[in-house]
Amino acid sequence: MRRLSWLFLAMFALALQPARAEPLRAPLPVVASFSILGDFLRQVGGDAVRVSVLVGPDSDAHVYEPTPADARKVSEAKLVFVNGLGFEGWLDRLVAAADAKSRIIVASAGITPLKLDGGLDPHAWQDVANGRRYVENIRDALKSADPERAALYEAKAAAYLATLETLDKEIVSAIAAIPSQRRRIVSTHDAFGYFAARYGLEFIAPQGVSTEAEPSARDIARIIDAARREKVAAVFLENISDPRLAQRLAKESGVRLGGELYSDALSKPDGPAASYVEMMRHNIEELTKALGR
Ligand SMILES: [Zn+2]
Repeated sequence: MRRLSWLFLAMFALALQPARAEPLRAPLPVVASFSILGDFLRQVGGDAVRVSVLVGPDSDAHVYEPTPADARKVSEAKLVFVNGLGFEGWLDRLVAAADAKSRIIVASAGITPLKLDGGLDPHAWQDVANGRRYVENIRDALKSADPERAALYEAKAAAYLATLETLDKEIVSAIAAIPSQRRRIVSTHDAFGYFAARYGLEFIAPQGVSTEAEPSARDIARIIDAARREKVAAVFLENISDPRLAQRLAKESGVRLGGELYSDALSKPDGPAASYVEMMRHNIEELTKALGR
């Protein structure tokens, strides 16, 4: 009888062991503040990470209200990836609630920020060269948090960085093919400053770098005037903005309405911009369609 109970105890101890021996085989729980960052994380981390995204597809991070479920995700995560540059105004409260300060990784660290309206323009990912910097920062953070899988992160990041280099060249040549007098356009909020600076388009927008403030009647009148005077080629919708604003701008300025650009969020998985690469390709297709000869 006694021998049996020892045997039982030994088996019990053995049964416990695998769980203790392989804790690092479980995917690393990480949080991304918004969908574009979530895609970068999946590209670099693959199956080795479990990504929770706070601000999902087609949603506006500027005016987001975190939920108790978000606080839970943040407190369970090994690392919390954010854009920084003032994009996530709601972040500090969330991080304080989840006691997560030490695990915050600013994905845009090291880029050269653009200034606009007396602040920083947060939309740095719209320049693919900056996107590459985000990916390098993500790779380095994953490697140091999970050194056992460093080689995997290194290899996946290298492959993805090469894809982004090709993407950057594609955009340069697509925009170069648009006649220079047709490169001035209207969008609804100022999300394309980095895109404009790198690829040579000019965007004007009634809303500033954040969508927090509704554009005033005066802002809208100013844009309509500018659109007429400066012979703007098209007014574009944005996936995170109310389409009525762009429709009104197009109608009142007499400028044609272009397609929908993805600025601050990806589309849902079955949409045209389910990943960062698809998003940038979709945007250049829409721009080329509306502005090309
Ligand atoms: Zn924005």
